[in-house]
This record gives sequence, C-alpha cells and structure tokens, in this order.
Amino acid sequence: MHEAMVAENIVESILSQVPSKKGKVIRVVISCGQMNAINDEAMEFAFEAAAEGTICKGAKLKIKHIPLKAVCKNCGKKFNYDLYEPQCPKCGKSDVEIGEDAPLLLEEIEFEE
Ligand SMILES: [Zn+2]
Repeated sequence: MHEAMVAENIVESILSQVPSKKGKVIRVVISCGQMNAINDEAMEFAFEAAAEGTICKGAKLKIKHIPLKAVCKNCGKKFNYDLYEPQCPKCGKSDVEIGEDAPLLLEEIEFEE
C-alpha cells in the first residue's frame, strides 16, 4: 500500500526533526502533487497507524493537493492542468506543455508545549 509507506516516512521525518522527542504533535500538514496523488482517507488512516506509539499519536493530518501547472503551446495561457480535461481553457487546444509535478512535502508540524 502506497499510503502506508508514505505515512511511515512522514512520521519518521517528524521524529527526526524533534530534538527532544518530548511534547506532542497536534497537527501535520503535507502537500503532494497530482502524479503521486494520495487518497486522503487512506492516508489519514495510514498516518494514524504509523503514529501509534509515537509523539504523533492523535495528530491531525492535513493534505494539500498542489495542482499541476501547464502552458498552452498555442496561445501561451498558463493554467492548472486537469487530468480529466487536458485542454487549454482559453483556446481549447490540447497541445500543452506540462510543468513539473509537486513533490510530496512535509510542510508544517505543530506542537503542543
Ligand atoms: Zn491555448
């Protein structure tokens, strides 16, 4: 399961960023792109399981989905690429250049003192 692995990595990197391993993590924000699209529900479930027994236990996980940027080769319009509607919103052509997908990132960790 993709999400379980991602969740474990997240918990691990949180723990490695906490110097004292004391305190409690109450909120975690991650962001991901469209290609490694994460299923929110599966991810929350996997995170809960991975957090069990660590200072992350009970933390709320927020997942931000970053849209894929694209540029139309015909008219130069920049827009958010939609996998299901891959045409330029301005001229309707589907000859577009797709930008780099956003990586999976740990954006924020909120602690309770
Ligand atoms: Zn266009």
